[in-house]
Amino acid sequence: MDGFEIVDRRFAPFVLDNAPLEKLGDGFRWLEGPVWFGDMQTLLFNDLPNNRTMQWSARGGASVFRSPSWFANGQTRDREGRLISCSHERRCVIRTEHNGALSVIADRFEGKKLNSPNDVVAKSDGSIWFTDPWYGLQTDYEGGKADPELPCRVYRIDGASGALSIVSDEFQGPNGLCFSPDESLLYIAETGLLFAPDPVQEIRVFQVDSGGTTISHGRRFHKVSPGFADGFRCDEDGNIWSSAADGVHCIAPSGDLMGKVLTPSRVANLTFGGRANSRLFICASQALYAIYLNRRGAR
Ligand code: MG
Repeated sequence: MDGFEIVDRRFAPFVLDNAPLEKLGDGFRWLEGPVWFGDMQTLLFNDLPNNRTMQWSARGGASVFRSPSWFANGQTRDREGRLISCSHERRCVIRTEHNGALSVIADRFEGKKLNSPNDVVAKSDGSIWFTDPWYGLQTDYEGGKADPELPCRVYRIDGASGALSIVSDEFQGPNGLCFSPDESLLYIAETGLLFAPDPVQEIRVFQVDSGGTTISHGRRFHKVSPGFADGFRCDEDGNIWSSAADGVHCIAPSGDLMGKVLTPSRVANLTFGGRANSRLFICASQALYAIYLNRRGAR
């Protein structure tokens, strides 16, 4: 089938031979942070180096939602449907309230400034989990050069108290993250040290402990190639749909590559959306794409 690569025959029914890859927008600088608002039939996403959050809908096409965006990167919605955004420039995690006001929900740990929160997910207990690598501090292009005050870590924001706790400090460059549909597993991308000659780049998987607030038993899950995993999402059966240099890779819970949706440019992040949550929205470098799949994203 054109536009796909089927590695494992289990992948064949996931894609539709009459559903093309559609380009929804182009001319951006670097896209990230796609998040679907079904109530508005709208996708929000970030044109990161242009310091703006964009919106796309079938009716209105692409337009600016918020500018400046504080160099926002990864995004999600919390259990109340509010937009949660990682900000490189302000070195924080921001919540957009129902009335449009912005609240900083994490910007320091033990008095020290966070680095540059990169990607974020919400858990069913109301907590927010995010990665905090150095990337946004290492260039002016994606936020602003500054010295880090903290190591690269993954954090959890408690839903009730708002307190920040360390989830992991075992990463050189923690990036995308995603829970399995039943939240028993947490996948985290290691993308390594920026500018390192041979960075460690792989997806790791951890068991979420019974209390639901910590992780353990981390191991290598999958190494995306070509390129590396930045952002990724689970479908309803726990398959991982990951960014890669040549498109979106579908990885079984066993860790095996099953197939690919090929794109003309490198993918940084993606999300499920649309009426049935079966349309994959893809942030691929300077362009935004979408494709209907015979798969639904995890709720
Ligand atoms: Mg990222």
